[in-house]
Amino acid sequence: MTTLQSIKGFKDILPGESELWQTIEEQAKTIFSDFGFREIRLPMLEKTELFARSIGEATDIVEKEMYTFQDRGGDLLTMRPEATAGIVRAYLQHKLYAQDPVHKFYTIGPMFRRERPQKGRYRQFSQINAEIFGVASPYADAQLILVLVHLMNRLGVTDAKPHINSLGCPACRPDFRTALQSFLAGVGDQLCSDCLRRRDTNPLRVLDCKVPGCKDATRNAPALADYLCAECQRHFATVGQALDDRNVAYTIDDRLVRGLDYYIRTTFEIQTSALGAQNAIAGGGRYDGLAQALGGPDIPATGFAIGLDRLAEIVGSIQRPAPPQPHLYIAALGENTRPLAFQCVSQLNTRGIRAEMGYEDKSLKSQMKRANKLGAGYVLIIGEQEIKQGAAPLRNMTSKAQIDIPVNGLADRLTAHFENTSG
Ligand SMILES: [Zn+2]
Ligand SMILES: [Zn+2]
Repeated sequence: MTTLQSIKGFKDILPGESELWQTIEEQAKTIFSDFGFREIRLPMLEKTELFARSIGEATDIVEKEMYTFQDRGGDLLTMRPEATAGIVRAYLQHKLYAQDPVHKFYTIGPMFRRERPQKGRYRQFSQINAEIFGVASPYADAQLILVLVHLMNRLGVTDAKPHINSLGCPACRPDFRTALQSFLAGVGDQLCSDCLRRRDTNPLRVLDCKVPGCKDATRNAPALADYLCAECQRHFATVGQALDDRNVAYTIDDRLVRGLDYYIRTTFEIQTSALGAQNAIAGGGRYDGLAQALGGPDIPATGFAIGLDRLAEIVGSIQRPAPPQPHLYIAALGENTRPLAFQCVSQLNTRGIRAEMGYEDKSLKSQMKRANKLGAGYVLIIGEQEIKQGAAPLRNMTSKAQIDIPVNGLADRLTAHFENTSG
C-alpha cells in the first residue's frame, strides 16, 4: 500500500520550521498591538458572490484561481483567496462602524488560490493582513507602510523598501483609463494574450505586466501621475511627506497598479532582494469604495497583506530560532521509578520548567543518549537504589558537575536548585 501524499501546492510546516513562523507571527502581533490594531478571526469559507463582487469578475483570481464548489445544500461557496473581502463582510454584517468610527484590524491565516504551482508559491498560502476602516486621511496609509517597515526591521530584513503609487480616484481615473486604452489600442499587436484581454477589462493591469514585450510596448504609455486630480495629488504628497518625516526611504513607482479592482489612491508594496531577484513581500492600498460596493455605507478603508510563506523563507535565511530544549531530563531506570519520574516531570512542566523523561524501560546509556539528543541542561538519574537511599544524582550536562538531590519533595527541590543556580 502506498502512503498518502499531500495535495499538490499544499505544504506541511513541520517542527523546525514552525518555530520560525511563530517568531514572525509573535513579532507581528506585538507590533500590531503597539500600533493599536486588534485581531479579527474569520471563516475560510465564504459565499462565492462575496469575492465576485469585491475582487471583481474580470480578475485572474475570480476567473481562474478560486476553489469554488457547491455544498450539499446547493450553495456556491469559495475558499477565501484573500482576506479583505471577508473582513469587509464581517465589518458590515456586525455594523462595527456604528460602534466606533475607526477600526484597525489584523488577521493571520491561510488563503487558497489554484495557481500554477511554482517554487515558493503554494495553493494554500498564508498571509498577515491589516486593515484600517473609517479613515480617509493619508496618515492611515502612511501608518500601514510604517508598520510594514518596522516589522521588516524587527525581523532583520534590512533591505525592505516601500514602493508607492497613487491610482487616482473615481473623479480622475476614468480620464486616465480612457487615455491608456487608446494608447494600448495603438500597440495591440505587441501585447501578450493576457494583456490583450486586460486592455478592455482591466487596462491598468497591462502597466505591471512582467512580459518583456509588454514592458517595451508600454514604455511611452500615459502616466497616472499626470492625470491625478488636486485632491489625489495632495493625498499622495502627504503619504510621502509622512514617510520622509520618519526617515523612511521609498520609491515612487508609477507602474505599481496591483491586481484588484477596488483599489483607489494610495497603493504600495514592500520589495526586497533578500532571496535574489527583487520581489514584493507585502502589498496593499486604499479601497474606499469597497464597503459601499458590498452594500454598506460609504466608509473609507486601507490595508495590506504580507505573504507569510515568502517572508518565512527570507527570515529563515537570516535567523533560525533554536528548537526549545528541555531543562531537565529524568533517566528513569526500572518500572518502579517511573511513577516518581512522571509526577516530577509533570509538576515541573506545569511550573513552566521544560522537563522530559524516559518513558520506556531503556538502559542508562540509551537514556543518556536521548538526553544529549534533546540538548537537556541537566539529567537526573533515578534507579530503584536511589529511591531506597532517598537521593538521586543530578548531573549538569555542561560542567559535568554532579550533586545529590533528595527524592522527597523532588520537584520542589529541583525547582529550588534551578532557581539558585539561575538556570
Ligand atoms: Zn482623484
Ligand atoms: Zn502582458
